Amino acid sequence: MTAIRKIWIETYGCQMNVLDSELIAGRMKRDGYELTTDREAADVLLFNTCSVRKHAEERAISNAGTLKYLRRRRPDAIVGIVGCAAQNLKEEIFERLPHVQLVVGPRKVGAIPRLIEEIRATGQRRVALEDFDDEFIDGAETLARRESPFKAYIKAIEGCDLSCAFCIVPATRGRETSRPPDVIADEVRRAAAEGVVEVTLLGQTIDSYGKGLKPAIDLGGLLRRLHGVEGIRRIRFITSHPSFMREPIIDALRDLPKVCKYVHMPAQSGSDAVLRRMRRGYTADRYLRLVDRLRERVPGVEIASDFIVGFPGETVEDFERTLALAERVRFQNAYVFQYSPRPGTDAAAMADDVPAEEKGRRNQVLLDLQERVSGEKNSKRVGQRIEILVEGPSKTNPRRQAGRSDTNQIVHFEAACDVRGRFVTVDITSSTPLALYGTWVGS
Ligand code: SF4
Repeated sequence: MTAIRKIWIETYGCQMNVLDSELIAGRMKRDGYELTTDREAADVLLFNTCSVRKHAEERAISNAGTLKYLRRRRPDAIVGIVGCAAQNLKEEIFERLPHVQLVVGPRKVGAIPRLIEEIRATGQRRVALEDFDDEFIDGAETLARRESPFKAYIKAIEGCDLSCAFCIVPATRGRETSRPPDVIADEVRRAAAEGVVEVTLLGQTIDSYGKGLKPAIDLGGLLRRLHGVEGIRRIRFITSHPSFMREPIIDALRDLPKVCKYVHMPAQSGSDAVLRRMRRGYTADRYLRLVDRLRERVPGVEIASDFIVGFPGETVEDFERTLALAERVRFQNAYVFQYSPRPGTDAAAMADDVPAEEKGRRNQVLLDLQERVSGEKNSKRVGQRIEILVEGPSKTNPRRQAGRSDTNQIVHFEAACDVRGRFVTVDITSSTPLALYGTWVGS
């Protein structure tokens, strides 16, 4: 009887990569591979990498470097670099990591099982990078090995057609490709049949969903399609772009109770001069008018953002405009990043002229502002009764359980037993900038 082979996957970066790793594990299971967390026991070891920032890429590459000793002990083991760093660095990976035998870009992950068999048969290295023939792993066909049994990421769009000056994603994930709505609906139905109650639709610019599809459909239409899937109680979508957040999506957010009232729409900056150099395609005023429109049409909607501070040429006045925008919008939460030049992006050719110390100061000032705003917003939730989907034991106190509200707030509550995967109602009794605390009152 052939021994069950084992696969080990280390995932870096965004939800899209988490989903790709879940799909790779699901696809390899069909070929008789069991997922393992023990590197020493693995026959195949894959690093699913991120290139959004240089150090994210370097961290994965240096971790993969430590496997040269394992390969010396176990020459039959196969080591691979997949994902964005594979597409970005290509064959350079073999020069830097001679013990690596497989390099596969995000649009070719479907080729992994075949290429592993070819490497076993020939002992030769294999490379599969973006070309005109995509080889995705279709989540409607392959059972993803999900991290959570009751929440699922669903890929709606692969790639991105925009070209923000600081971003490497279009170069690593390729052109924007929307998956047909029937295929997505099949995948969601299948997930519901396996016990999934919350799905998150993924896309770099999720609200541009539908581009090139016949018959025409947009994200609003897709949300309406999925709203009818039995067993699914919540639908989320990420990441929005102001240029594509249009009325049909806002209507769907307003009309469809299962669609979570939470929009992650990175502003990146509050300065038009900086937004222009970033090539974001909108102005601060357009962003603010969109936020007002969302709040007017979708009562209770919460908005989150990303910001880059210290972008080339960003003056103190520019930064003040970013603070003014954040103060005006009062985001639910915001992820703040200090600009670092990303080789391979257009911004890398611009003078990185904001001193590191000043980037650090701006980063802290914006984080402090956001912490104050989150604290004020969360304190207004005290006394409210909120329904949450329980994710499991609280990371900070094992006697508590934690979960998320419809608007993506983390809520902790005392519980004598593990009720993960269930919707429970909690009376909020206290808050911090990061979370709400309360008493479990029912489910
Ligand atoms: S929208 Fe801009 S930041 Fe987002 S993935 Fe596309 S190019 Fe990158």
